[in-house]
Amino acid sequence: MQRAELTEVHDHLEVDVAIIGGGIAGLWIHNNLIAHGYSSLLIEKDQLGCAQTLASQGMIHGGIKYTLAGATTGASETIAAMPERWNQCLAGEDPVDLQGVETLSQDYYMFSDRSVTSKVTAFFGSKAIEGRVSAIKRRDYTGAFANAEFKGSLYKLQDIVLDTESLISRLASVGHVVQGEATLEQEDGRVSSIRIPGLLIKPTTTILAAGLGNEALIRALALPVTMQRRPLQQVIVTGPELPDLYAHAVTLKAGDKPRITFTTHQAGNQKAWYLGGQLAETGVDRSEAEQVEFAKKELAEVVPWVDLTQCEFATLRIDRAEAGHSEGLRPDRPFARRYGNVIVSWPTKLTLAPMLGDMVLELMPPAGGEDKVIPDSVPRAQFGVAPWL
Ligand SMILES: Cc1cc2nc3c(=O)[nH]c(=O)nc-3n(C[C@H](O)[C@H](O)[C@H](O)COP(=O)(O)OP(=O)(O)OC[C@H]3O[C@@H](n4cnc5c(N)ncnc54)[C@H](O)[C@@H]3O)c2cc1C
Repeated sequence: MQRAELTEVHDHLEVDVAIIGGGIAGLWIHNNLIAHGYSSLLIEKDQLGCAQTLASQGMIHGGIKYTLAGATTGASETIAAMPERWNQCLAGEDPVDLQGVETLSQDYYMFSDRSVTSKVTAFFGSKAIEGRVSAIKRRDYTGAFANAEFKGSLYKLQDIVLDTESLISRLASVGHVVQGEATLEQEDGRVSSIRIPGLLIKPTTTILAAGLGNEALIRALALPVTMQRRPLQQVIVTGPELPDLYAHAVTLKAGDKPRITFTTHQAGNQKAWYLGGQLAETGVDRSEAEQVEFAKKELAEVVPWVDLTQCEFATLRIDRAEAGHSEGLRPDRPFARRYGNVIVSWPTKLTLAPMLGDMVLELMPPAGGEDKVIPDSVPRAQFGVAPWL
């Protein structure tokens, strides 16, 4: 692709695509479009990844957690191919090249107490999910599970856990990723230009990939699409000697969802457990103090062999932002739809970002313009930090 200098700060910049929002959705789409020959400029108003993406658990999962009721579902089928796709990206075998991104764990587990129904146990061994889950024999239990007090069953899933900071950093190293509060200007129902301080951008296509921020943008552009929020109160446990734990705790008590979803992260010289699942979903109705107390009780039942007396507890309230669902449920797929020269997008899950990238590519007109150099006066976007740091 040819490059042309922009001589003045107030010169305008013509690009194939301007992307609003620097979470996984915006950054993935940006990388994929550049790899397919488009000129792309990404605009982030705060910090890259600062909202849901760095607050996520970084799990790239194959949907087994959606089968706990004992059957495959639309969601579990959509997501099943994703771990393999991400592994291709991590190996540099996909247009979105993720070589160098850190994998926190190649293995993800599901462990149960003895209350899990035989129906679910039989389902895990069935043809329907063959190859996606394997039972681990007691003599092969390692790490946090190699403890005589752990009496339940252990299954290994095909999921992996990524370090989201290194993921954001890798994706942001491609193309132009700038900081600014964008003002969208319309003409005849189309976005004609976007202003950020020091730059007037004239994109052929504008992509809204701003997570929660899409709501205000959609309203400003009067687009006929709705967004929903699904709130969580996550729990962060920090301590000097926490064992690595990457697993769903599953019990009958939690119905057909994991009771606690564990990931483990480095927090300075300590380890942090980041806890989601039912604990975080039901936690939205508790105060922070109540949520901490509830988490302590849950952990005492689920991992009674781990000593947490030296640990500090904190919580994080955060909303998931997705396309509106008629019953407020999690959509099965990513959302990407074109309205004139605007595409509205939500990935629904970090895991589904590659599928979102493919969907957006299909909605794009052919690649056109030459790439431009952004004036130095327009700052590059900075990186956000994960909630356990
Ligand atoms: C606690 C939690 C745990 C999760 N764990 C997992 C998991 O383990 N696996 C999984 O697959 N999914 C997980 N998810 C879901 C996943 O994190 C989200 O689906 C995904 O990160 C959403 O990405 P996004 O880019 O749409 O939004 P965001 O990450 O929220 O990014 C939106 C960006 O847009 C910017 N922005 C907003 N408005 C504007 C504007 N006007 N101009 C410019 N920029 C703007 C914001 O500052 C932000 O940087 C989790 C979600 C949460 C909340």
